[in-house]
Amino acid sequence: MCGIVGYVGPRAATEVVVGGLQRLEYRGYDSAGIAIYDPEQGLQLRRSVGKLSNLVQRLGQQPAIGHVGMGHTRWATHGNVTEENAHPHRDASGRVVVIQNGIVENYLELKSRLLEMGYHFQSQTDTEVIAHLVGHYYREEQALEPALRRALAELRGGNAVVAFCVDEPERLIVARLGNAGGVVIGTAPGETFVASDVPAILDYTREMVFLEDRELAVITRTGVTISTLSGAPVTRTPVNVPWDPVAAAKGDYKHFMQKEIHEQPRALMDILRGRIDQEAGQVQLEDLTLDDRALRRVERIYVTACGTAWHAGLMAKFMIESLARVRVEVDYASEFRYRGPILGDDALLLAITQSGETVDTLAAMEEARAQGVPSVAIVNAIGSQAARLADGGPIYLHAGPEIGVASTKAFTSMLAAAYLFALRLGQARGTLKPAQIREHLQAMVELPGKAATVIEQSLPICAELAERYHRASDALFLGRQANYPIALEGALKLKEISYIHAEGYPAGEMKHGPIALIDEDLPVVCIAPRDAIYEKMISNIEQVRARHGQVIAIGTTGDTLLATKADHVIEVPATLPLLQPILTVIPLQIFAYDMALRRGCDVDQPRNLAKSVTVE
Ligand code: GLU
Repeated sequence: MCGIVGYVGPRAATEVVVGGLQRLEYRGYDSAGIAIYDPEQGLQLRRSVGKLSNLVQRLGQQPAIGHVGMGHTRWATHGNVTEENAHPHRDASGRVVVIQNGIVENYLELKSRLLEMGYHFQSQTDTEVIAHLVGHYYREEQALEPALRRALAELRGGNAVVAFCVDEPERLIVARLGNAGGVVIGTAPGETFVASDVPAILDYTREMVFLEDRELAVITRTGVTISTLSGAPVTRTPVNVPWDPVAAAKGDYKHFMQKEIHEQPRALMDILRGRIDQEAGQVQLEDLTLDDRALRRVERIYVTACGTAWHAGLMAKFMIESLARVRVEVDYASEFRYRGPILGDDALLLAITQSGETVDTLAAMEEARAQGVPSVAIVNAIGSQAARLADGGPIYLHAGPEIGVASTKAFTSMLAAAYLFALRLGQARGTLKPAQIREHLQAMVELPGKAATVIEQSLPICAELAERYHRASDALFLGRQANYPIALEGALKLKEISYIHAEGYPAGEMKHGPIALIDEDLPVVCIAPRDAIYEKMISNIEQVRARHGQVIAIGTTGDTLLATKADHVIEVPATLPLLQPILTVIPLQIFAYDMALRRGCDVDQPRNLAKSVTVE
């Protein structure tokens, strides 16, 4: 999950590397470190526990000078959060240095072998095993590339590794094994960059190549040479990544999460661009390689995702089953492949992932591939592994970089993408006539404006709610049907960033357990738009009130009945039932944000979490 950055070129490497790490800190913030090389100063290692700002402070006292170097922000998997465990790690000679993203699954076995050979370990990490192995083979090979290849051949697990040796000071070597996380290499005249994610190097270049599984790249000032781990040369044309560096910066907002909440109206507009023909009542998804015939053959869809994207997956089930009349099953990607899924010839896998690097989701896609089942990925990161693995094509969110660890705009964009996909499927299968599609598209076109209204109306109310409820120890979120996944998402948001224990529940199930939790201190967030199940939801709200719970309701604009039943109401404009969750979730995001802020929590980097979960 960690963030990796490397640089070779004429600039001050420390500046490039630290600047890049700043853009990647959402991936891990247990510790940070850099290794910079200069012929006069030699190899300079600087490492600090905690956030990157600690490293920056350290560098203020002890600068690191040079034009080649690498840096890392860690999300600890092996070994405590200490300076000794912070990357980069060195080999026994101190001449080889490495950073790693991922897990060396057989590190104990390798470590005991190295210990027997007389190597001493300074850290508890699996990373140091790689450093010693590379150093060991370097002594035999007298060259970094073959030494790294030999070391990599012994590693099990998903890993991305960057290595450097002071005896070859003009180059970095990076390799990718499995799906531990992306490796992107940026090229510009006279300089080359490497990082785990695009935003880290966007300030310098948009010409990028993405490393595939089991590939190795040698990076020098003049460019990059890629080969497979077995040594076969690889030619890859750089892609132009259209992201704007400003979009990856915080601007006037206090937090990325706040910025991303406010970007939702724009994201909901961008996702439609070039994809809808309102006159003809048609949806085109430009990267989808499955044609009408292939889409007609699909009789069941397995949706796999993790975390917030899994909630989007639950929504995708409602959308696809209702609009395209195809059966859908939704799985946690981390569970999917272990249950020995029987997919069948008529199946399609729909993976949903913001980063496109979530290791469990990628493994689910690989499982589908192994069974000969095509997959489609709803994904934000352009050129990511999920986008490339999806043989049915990616459906890009075009939401721009999402940096806040708690997902907001990617979630609402995922819902919109799933809706577009359901319409596209319904169009191919004839379950929707152009006139019906036109109606759906009209509702989608109106969403950005409605989302802006929701944000505007929610802000003052959520600030008041946070003032009143920020000391709560628990919260309950209730919704039914399409708003049940939104109850789950509202609870997850609150948990993630405010550390308040929260549960999302289908409102009708409340009486089978969670009702026991309700007392006068418990805020109960009830998502109750005027839909087909509205009256049942009102009954559930009555049940909460009868136990003196504090009802915070999300309801349709102008609902006077709801106003008499709830302690607080946040209104959202009406839209089509299966699009309504895109609007009802927004107040829950703002509520979670305000609660976290009022409790003094670190909104963008909540404890223990990381954004792209590239370990199992
Ligand atoms: N396994 C390594 C460690 O614990 C790297 C973890 C990461 O990807 O940040 O240090």
